[in-house]
Amino acid sequence: MHCPFCRHPDSRVIDSRTSDDGLSIRRRRQCPECGGRFTTIETASLNVIKRSGVVEPFSREKVASGVRKACQGRPVTEGDLAMLAQKVEESVRQTGASQIDTNEIGLAILGPLRELDEVAYLRFASVYQAFESLEDFEASIGQLRADHRADSNPAESE
Ligand SMILES: [Zn+2]
Repeated sequence: MHCPFCRHPDSRVIDSRTSDDGLSIRRRRQCPECGGRFTTIETASLNVIKRSGVVEPFSREKVASGVRKACQGRPVTEGDLAMLAQKVEESVRQTGASQIDTNEIGLAILGPLRELDEVAYLRFASVYQAFESLEDFEASIGQLRADHRADSNPAESE
């Protein structure tokens, strides 16, 4: 990488540390020509294969915008969406894959979205999983209810 100050084609690494989540490395570099210091962040490349076959770099913004519509009118903030997109990126990166398809991203969105807002989750799931009938909604809502019961009274008989 060229020095951002003088465009010298080489630089020396003076410090290197892994981020807390272990998913990126920050390198502090110094230019041997002008002495300028700068930081580079290295992450494994992660590409998304779209349904059309087009490959593009993973984007948290695209994840957030895909979910934003399902959250209309719900108490979900832009900060919540950014946090969700970060969780999605972390979970797909943890699989170690360098290429994933949009389907896998949809799957990775379902878990954190359900924790965030169940109505938005149902809306997103209905599009993503192509719900075709009321029965599909009923099955999904029934699953949510069953999990609520399991959460509220674990191992307790009524
Ligand atoms: Zn330089």
